[in-house]
Amino acid sequence: MFRPRPRIELKSLDQVRLMRRAGLVVADALAAVRAAARPGTTTADLDAVAAAVIAEAGAEPSFLGYHGFPASICTSVNEEVVHGIPGRRVLAAGDLVSVDCGAIVEGWHGDSALSFLLGESGAVDVDDPSGGGDVAGQGLVRATRTAMWAGIAALAEGRRVGDVGVAVEASVELSAELLGTGYGLVEEYTGHGIGTAMHQPPDVLNFAASDRGPRLRPGMCLAVEPMVTLGGAGTRVLEDDWTVVTTDGSRAAHWEHTVAVLDGGVAVLTAADLGASGLEPFGVGPVPL
Ligand code: MG
Ligand code: MG
Repeated sequence: MFRPRPRIELKSLDQVRLMRRAGLVVADALAAVRAAARPGTTTADLDAVAAAVIAEAGAEPSFLGYHGFPASICTSVNEEVVHGIPGRRVLAAGDLVSVDCGAIVEGWHGDSALSFLLGESGAVDVDDPSGGGDVAGQGLVRATRTAMWAGIAALAEGRRVGDVGVAVEASVELSAELLGTGYGLVEEYTGHGIGTAMHQPPDVLNFAASDRGPRLRPGMCLAVEPMVTLGGAGTRVLEDDWTVVTTDGSRAAHWEHTVAVLDGGVAVLTAADLGASGLEPFGVGPVPL
């Protein structure tokens, strides 16, 4: 049966450049949050760090007030997958922390997330395979990041939005096989179009679906954001109506970038280097802006 597809906002190059400015604010805020995280800091402390970076840049937080959300970032720890609310929670060494942040510049949004393990003196380098002694946690953080980049590379080389999900799923399966483990790939939450609003059509699924979705076109801007767990894929929402946790209590990781589809490839608007280093293993380079 014919189903009309929702209208997708296509951006001009000038509009993409405004989104790049928002993306760089988000990149700076996330880098500052990651650098500030220590055992003993609270998730509210991290929110204050992000809020200060966003304000200093003359930007606005996308999340604050979004459907009543009370903070500038989401902080999701261990079995929390996404949408955790910053507060009095004190971080401890060994925590797996996911931070999601959005910012608005002249009405245009950027949205990005990262995960890290917390060691005794701060965030553990994501490329350290030992993960500060937490090989399984680090494997999950890296597998989720790799899956995100695989999805972004699919935007550069693919034909339809659904090619992202095909690539993300294959990447997670490959990582699980290489590490001799099992991962859960969360399906209930997806990436999305982004531009004059944080969440726009189309949905960007993190798994292979029979409907491959809309054709990719220059000017589409999409958030690619896989969520992966060390257990099952099932999630539930806590009584705060925001925090999404795994139903089996397994830990989860979340990585996200905002990506512009352009003539000849992609530019990763929330990556300081436009995605050059993340895309390099896939033989893809970003389109300069
Ligand atoms: Mg986000
Ligand atoms: Mg998002």
